[in-house]
Amino acid sequence: MAEKFKLDSVSDDDLLRRLSEILKESRRVEVDLIAHIGEVDRRRLYAIEASVSMFSYCTERLHLSEHEAFLRIAVARAARKHPVLLSMLEDGRLHLSAIAKLAPVLTESNRDELLTQAEHKTKKKILELVAKVAPKPDVAATMRKLPTRREPQKTATPTQLPPDEVAMPNATLDAVATCKAAVVEPLSPSRYGVHFTASAELHEKLERLSDLMPGADLASVIEAAVTLKLERLEAKRFGKAKKPRKSLDEADTSPGSRYISAPVKRFVYERDGGQCTYVGKDGRRCTARRDLEYHHHDPHGRGGDRSADNISLRCTTHNQLQAERDFGEGVMDQYRRSGESVSEPSPVYYVPADGCCDLLGLDQVGLAQERLCLAEAPATATSG
Ligand SMILES: [Zn+2]
Repeated sequence: MAEKFKLDSVSDDDLLRRLSEILKESRRVEVDLIAHIGEVDRRRLYAIEASVSMFSYCTERLHLSEHEAFLRIAVARAARKHPVLLSMLEDGRLHLSAIAKLAPVLTESNRDELLTQAEHKTKKKILELVAKVAPKPDVAATMRKLPTRREPQKTATPTQLPPDEVAMPNATLDAVATCKAAVVEPLSPSRYGVHFTASAELHEKLERLSDLMPGADLASVIEAAVTLKLERLEAKRFGKAKKPRKSLDEADTSPGSRYISAPVKRFVYERDGGQCTYVGKDGRRCTARRDLEYHHHDPHGRGGDRSADNISLRCTTHNQLQAERDFGEGVMDQYRRSGESVSEPSPVYYVPADGCCDLLGLDQVGLAQERLCLAEAPATATSG
């Protein structure tokens, strides 16, 4: 059995092809599973099997996790009203989370348009769509002190959920409430609710800043601080400036130094649309807009210059991939083992695709050193 999972000898192309085939098959099986869950639910067979609800049956008898059970029951019930959801799930146009989020706002009249807009969207984009269809009012800006240590509360067990209710158990919701990772929730088009846990230091700084900005609400105070930090970091990393001192024509692009001038950074960032420029074999461009680095097509270590023509934006992953292609994996491994850091830590302000946002370390973001291009690393290592 273990032999089946030994993939070391499978070629790259075969591995990708097999992965795609397995995914297709798993989606077909997923739809079949949901159809069966839906039918058992409709017939209330869980009751005959001594479970109080379909959720209990899924978690206690089928041993699905709470989240797995919640998603599949929600999708099965939504598909009863809108059967098209299952075919969209099967061909990959919608994922389980998308359907579960869309289900409460989906009607026969908005179905066609909404589902078309939702195709291949991330959960974050789906939440924005939902907020557009069913906008919520703004939340009041509040700061409140949390208990130093919160004891686990007594919660309803899944078996206590009413048969027709598909809800995450309270324990899970409680974990969300005390989770230090923040939440960004789209409320309506262009409005977001942001909840996060702040350190005592950040709380104190917010109060000091509020004192200096009389009349400004909490959101305006945070926005002012974030805007300032953003301008400083973008000026440092991408040469952005309200009043640029030099034009591209005046920039020094000679190959002698690895320093990339602000006009070149600015031009390259704008030209590349603030996005990694790596293009895969199938013509798809990498979508990364964070952890971007300036990549030299003709490496600095081989005499490449610092002109905009020789430089483009790459994410860390693709800058590294290119470096391995240029210099070989062995050389790069050796370089990494030498312990030399070639890039600053990832930005602390982080909004991952699932909608969480961590502002905890915002004030710790320093004006770190400009990233060094990985492609230049071997030259640095050997010359040093
Ligand atoms: Zn990339």
